[in-house]
Amino acid sequence: MNTNETMMQYFEWYIKPESNLWNSCIRDAQYLSSIGITSIWLPPAYKGTGGINEVGYGVYDMYDLGEFDQKGSIRTKYGSKDEYLKAIKTLQGNNINVIADIVFNHRLGADGTEEVIAIENDPSNRTRFISKPQKILAWTKYNFDGRNNKYSDFKWNWTHFHGVDWDEYKKKKSIYIFYGKHWDKEVDLENGNFDYLMGADVDLNNVDVVNELNNWGKWYLSITNINGFRIDAVKHIRADFFTNWLSDLRSWTEKKLFTVGEYWSTNVNLLNSYIEETNNLMSLFDVPLHYNFFNACNSSGTYDMRKIFDGTLVKSNPDKAVTFVDNHDTEIRPIITILDS
Ligand code: CA
Repeated sequence: MNTNETMMQYFEWYIKPESNLWNSCIRDAQYLSSIGITSIWLPPAYKGTGGINEVGYGVYDMYDLGEFDQKGSIRTKYGSKDEYLKAIKTLQGNNINVIADIVFNHRLGADGTEEVIAIENDPSNRTRFISKPQKILAWTKYNFDGRNNKYSDFKWNWTHFHGVDWDEYKKKKSIYIFYGKHWDKEVDLENGNFDYLMGADVDLNNVDVVNELNNWGKWYLSITNINGFRIDAVKHIRADFFTNWLSDLRSWTEKKLFTVGEYWSTNVNLLNSYIEETNNLMSLFDVPLHYNFFNACNSSGTYDMRKIFDGTLVKSNPDKAVTFVDNHDTEIRPIITILDS
């Protein structure tokens, strides 16, 4: 990267579907370039469980970029597939790299249920079982009928996941691991083991899943021609997976594919370990620096600014640090929206 590169996150949680983000990108590309923006981080572009109200992290079908009538609409919250592709071209035409948001940890909005044998985990210590094996009804069948096998005929079922947090038989919320499955060990160890975050947790050891996501990566790159990735929730995914996924894609495209991961932790040692485990293939957001900024802002003027870089990634591993002040997860809800509701 050049020293003065600046990536802008070009979305926030509360933008309205009717504002059509992809068209905003087309409209604003020239201006963004003129003020020195060199990369744009766009939100997950594929159909999520919430249809046009889905920010993007509740991922349903990664092959539906606003092309198929699924989850109540053809378009996503941000527009149609054609508008997305035009936005990418326009941004790139203005010398702005496009960074795509990739969500591999989980799936939501399944098309159907399956009876699976599962064991309940203690939510605060996921290594401890708190039930015997039992039959649950899990939302794990993904058929994507609205897409009708276009681009991929892969159908997801319970064998492609580690577990879920809902039993439809008992209408009970708990953390259920499927009998015979194991949470991956190479993840963050908060709560004993933080492999499970939400929805149906994708089993990234399953060879069919790995192949499917490799195929998807190639399909996505060839359709969109994006320049790099922002990877969601990496602390809930075994590090090895991305090392292979990224290396394969980089050799396949012969492109640099700049990648930054979201490892949400204030512990810089964990961030540096993750970078090491992934063979320096990806940068990470500097979450400790974000919290230093936060504490400084809330200190009523008493913060010792000499300590602002203490414990940060930019201090210990500057080449791999992507610094930021706030993002869509930390933003405060606009006051005007609060007054509206
Ligand atoms: Ca996981």
